[in-house]
Amino acid sequence: MSLPPLPPLAGLESARLEWQRDETGESAPRSTRFDDVYFSRHDGRAETEHVFLAGNDLPRRFAAWTCARPFTIAETGFGTGLNMLCAWACFDAHAPPGARLHLVSTERYPLSRDDLARALTAWPDLAPRAERLVRQWPEPVAGVHRLWLDARVTLDLHYGDAAERLALLEGQVDAWFLDGFAPARNPEMWRPELFAAMAARSRPGASFATFTCAGAVKRGLAAAGFAWRKVPGYGRKREMLAGEIASPPADSRRQRTPWFRPPPPRPAGHVAVIGAGIAGASVAAALARRGVTVTLVDRFDRAELGPLHLQGALYVKLAVEANLQSRTYLAGLLHSRRWLAELDPEQTLWRPTGVLQLALSDKEQARQARFLDHHPLPESVVRGLDAEAASAAAGTRVAGPGLDYPNAAWVRPLALCVRLARTPGVRFRRGEVTALDGGEAGWTLALADGASIAADQVVIATASEAARFAQTAALPLQPVRGQISQLALPEGAPTLGRVVCAGGYVPPPADGVLNFGATFNPGDTDLAEREADHAANLAELERGLPHFVAALREAGAELAPGRLTGRVGVRAASPDKSPYAGPVPDAEAWREDYAVLAKDATRVPDLAGRHHPGLWISAAHGSRGLASAPLCAELIASRICDEPLPLEWPLVDHLHPGRRVIRDLVRGG
Ligand code: SAM
Repeated sequence: MSLPPLPPLAGLESARLEWQRDETGESAPRSTRFDDVYFSRHDGRAETEHVFLAGNDLPRRFAAWTCARPFTIAETGFGTGLNMLCAWACFDAHAPPGARLHLVSTERYPLSRDDLARALTAWPDLAPRAERLVRQWPEPVAGVHRLWLDARVTLDLHYGDAAERLALLEGQVDAWFLDGFAPARNPEMWRPELFAAMAARSRPGASFATFTCAGAVKRGLAAAGFAWRKVPGYGRKREMLAGEIASPPADSRRQRTPWFRPPPPRPAGHVAVIGAGIAGASVAAALARRGVTVTLVDRFDRAELGPLHLQGALYVKLAVEANLQSRTYLAGLLHSRRWLAELDPEQTLWRPTGVLQLALSDKEQARQARFLDHHPLPESVVRGLDAEAASAAAGTRVAGPGLDYPNAAWVRPLALCVRLARTPGVRFRRGEVTALDGGEAGWTLALADGASIAADQVVIATASEAARFAQTAALPLQPVRGQISQLALPEGAPTLGRVVCAGGYVPPPADGVLNFGATFNPGDTDLAEREADHAANLAELERGLPHFVAALREAGAELAPGRLTGRVGVRAASPDKSPYAGPVPDAEAWREDYAVLAKDATRVPDLAGRHHPGLWISAAHGSRGLASAPLCAELIASRICDEPLPLEWPLVDHLHPGRRVIRDLVRGG
């Protein structure tokens, strides 16, 4: 099945700005690329309020918003964010307390963080809002970047060309801000594909407003199905356009893959999440943040464990080609980094030390070089370092060059899970779920202690045990045993400047304990600690960091297999090594509905995939769950709450738990 085209995975060109004194004598940003201003300091606020807020009738619509889903605004050309910050302020002024707002904005040439902060100083009353935006300002990488503006307001920045990004948007919009520099100065943006994508992503009755009355815009909007009218413009501009689309076209993007069509939204009510590891705890927290009542069930309570000194690495291993998996993991890495900074600004649960991936063989060095050629990403995200620079970053002489992710991190995974499980709105229940029974009317979870839990929807997040239920039995999941080694270090032992990965990983020691590992044994579920595995972890550590190991020994560390303690875990992997995140397919129904694919893969029946209603899964995160699980949690919570998703639709489909069912059918399995 051919994949939809995606723009290259790359860093974006920055905005080219100059600071110009305007009629108020104050300095305001002007684009030298488009020879146009971002806003006027004199009346920029009033113009935004007239054109975009009043033009979309937002004060009235916000006041009347009683839906459980968020009101969704999408914009072309985020610029300095003035429009979006004003929409947020307007929402706060008018919307009832339970209402939520979801902002989507595209931007092809993002401002630098410094320019953004400087531009927004023009509006002192927006300062607290601007501060939230500036703090979370994403890396300039093409893709979707989700920001938490406050408890009720989310912003998804879709970096890249507006028409391209809206064609990739998985979500529906209530109101459009059609901004961007004037059509005469920026004709490339205002092209027919933009209006077509807007129409296709609109909810019935979605409105739009724009400052321009250009003929091409009127024609483009009309051709896409929008009714437009001229209304009085702001200030000297006599006229502008506003309007709506009564009957948007149906989403035609999954004609070749109808099994991935999302199930219709249903009331979230009370959601049970099974599994309180990083996958389940992050889903529980994501749902609770949206006002959903959550019961989080696990057979053991991480809050009762003593200090285990575990450290996980937030890192990814990206393929040389920008395939769907690499795109998903890179998005996950960037997402987790922002999410951790918001969740725990004090950094008690994590440290952004950066991660260095060493290349210890010629083959790996060649692979890393090809990777850098294929991924023109900002150096703040990933850069190549020769052995000398890698040694300086690691704080010890390393045995080869490497890829450096300066913003990656290490995390205390257990403490993180405990923190997430304590999110207001999440109730923890200790118990082992043995069976699930349900459907349209809701679900009953049977517990080993004889009790049961009733829930409207259920999320399964139990790693290698996620396929134990009748409804998930068809999803292939392989257990992978992993053992890490630990050693209490003597006073004065050396440290590291980075998490260093080669075959395994070793974070800078924390609380006087060195963690390193882990082993990787597919198919093995034995939880007993093995001395041979400590020996393997130690050999791997010496291979990548011989000088660090020597220095540890010199400082008196007893680095010998027999002196190490450890922890054993069983991770879960899917056959293609990407997570499962999404609705649980009714595999039997899929085999029936799509049986013809076994004979002829081109004969795609026009039948939407049938799913177990209200049943979801987040699993198969392997050893990279810190990068994938929080983003998958947002994906599932957004789907349950009927809001735009934080990933492009081809990546959403890439994560769909039913993908193997179709693949096996096509291959005659
Ligand atoms: N809405 C902005 C605000 O509130 O500050 C002002 C928008 S500014 C006048 C226009 C923005 O559109 C610029 O940031 C520019 O980089 C962006 N832009 C231009 N062409 C684009 C395209 N094809 N796709 C996405 N954004 C584009």
